[in-house]
Amino acid sequence: MICLGIEGTAHSIGVGVVKDVNGKCRVFSNLIKIYRPEQGGIHPREAANHHAIYLADLIKESVAKAGIDFTDVDLVSFSKGPGLGPCLRTAATAARALSLTLNKPIIGVNHCVAHLEIGRGTLEDCNDPVLLYTSGANTQVIAFAEGRYRVFGETLDVGIGNCIDKFGRIVGIEFPCGPRIEEIAAKGKNYLELPYSIKGMDIAFSGLLTVAEQYYKKGERLEDICYSIQETTFAALTEVTERAMAHTEKDEVLLGGGVAANKRLRGMVQIMANERGASFFVPSKDLCIDNGAMIAWLGLLMHNSGIRMKIKNSLINQRFRTDMVDVTWRD
Ligand code: AMP
Ligand code: MG
Repeated sequence: MICLGIEGTAHSIGVGVVKDVNGKCRVFSNLIKIYRPEQGGIHPREAANHHAIYLADLIKESVAKAGIDFTDVDLVSFSKGPGLGPCLRTAATAARALSLTLNKPIIGVNHCVAHLEIGRGTLEDCNDPVLLYTSGANTQVIAFAEGRYRVFGETLDVGIGNCIDKFGRIVGIEFPCGPRIEEIAAKGKNYLELPYSIKGMDIAFSGLLTVAEQYYKKGERLEDICYSIQETTFAALTEVTERAMAHTEKDEVLLGGGVAANKRLRGMVQIMANERGASFFVPSKDLCIDNGAMIAWLGLLMHNSGIRMKIKNSLINQRFRTDMVDVTWRD
């Protein structure tokens, strides 16, 4: 079976085409366009307008790049949530139009679960991981337990990506700021004390952001501030992930989300995994960021397990939580 997936939860609009080959995911195409606000943060309506402009062509290009015809598509899936309402609606509307035109079934999927399943689907020996999902808006530690993907810990205020982007905006770096901050942090030497707030298994970053801004205004070296932000936030995320691994007795850890591109984060989680005798996995970069292929793959898994959705029920849910999904395709 071949599925075309449309991802549109926030700043990116993506279309991917994947096929199920003996239970593993073969990615045929995976195209992404990123909305970059001229200034400030993401304005949901403007992001949705951006997506609407590019989506029709992106669908055509993705099918062409996959080397298939539209008639080869067996299923259409889309990101049902969580995310920004206008963006989600744009992706869902396109998915409905495509499903009706091709006369093929439609399925809406959970974006966070898709980040986890694309790792299991594309990486050899990645079977039952704890996922450290580090994205712009979402940051969660997720693992499978008793029929659901449970959230063992998450950020209570801003996601790690947004935390980095907010600091970047303060110091005049263009969105998305993560890659540039990583470069600057590599030149940092002195660790500056920042609040390290873990509450139970949850994390808060806004206090750290305030102190980092104060350091900047006081004239501390930007390299040292960026270095300290990475060291502190990534250590907190790694600590919660390790606790979830100990609690669930799982011996695989998987990274996902745009911040998983960061070498220091990868390094820290890798060390933690090594020390526990656990396996460490990270998908290729284009499958870590928000992308259509992961939406397509989760659509296929759900469809193959018997889940069906009618067009009239193909609604979006801005607050679609990871643990609301009944996981019928694995045990
Ligand atoms: P996503 O929402 O999953 O597409 O991820 C986007 C987020 O990843 C943005 O907040 C980026 O700043 C962040 N990001 C991308 N590359 C890096 C990097 N190398 N280091 C840290 N954050 C990154
Ligand atoms: Mg994401």
